[in-house]
Amino acid sequence: METTLVLLKPDCVAGRKVGEVIKRFEDAGFQIRGAKMFVPGAEILKEHYAHLLAKPFFPDLEAFMQSTPVVALALASENAVERVRTIIGPTDSKKADPGTVRGDFGVDVMVNIVHASDSNENAAIELKRFFAPDELFDYAMHYTTTARSAEPVH
Ligand code: UDP
Ligand code: MG
Repeated sequence: METTLVLLKPDCVAGRKVGEVIKRFEDAGFQIRGAKMFVPGAEILKEHYAHLLAKPFFPDLEAFMQSTPVVALALASENAVERVRTIIGPTDSKKADPGTVRGDFGVDVMVNIVHASDSNENAAIELKRFFAPDELFDYAMHYTTTARSAEPVH
């Protein structure tokens, strides 16, 4: 099993697509090992987008990423990194096929609904960046109930 990091970006949150996007991952068999909402600070964004720091669009990207809270997800399955990248489609939403998350809901190359780790190495780094150890859970995908009192509950 692999675990990968997904961020639901401000266009996803503001566009009320959080449920829809999570549903796609759940329907595809991913287990949610962690989930949280926060506004990413300047430092974490500089780290997370270090490969884009020198680009002229970096200030716009930072403003976009801080324009609402984002939702971070830790998603697990076999081959999770590659499977998530396939489900979301390429970076540029305009080049993403219909049926992919970015193809269906994204606007352009910046405003593209989701972030997802692009390698196992980066998934490990990014999971550490956004989740404390006690915010990631290992659990079986079934539930149990315990016997309850025969007394009716009012
Ligand atoms: N991005 C952008 N303009 C570009 C390339 C990237 O605004 O020309 C933004 C976009 O939001 C993208 C993020 O920077 O998702 C990270 O870029 P990367 O190349 O890592 O793409 P991703 O891994 O998200 O597909
Ligand atoms: Mg990337």
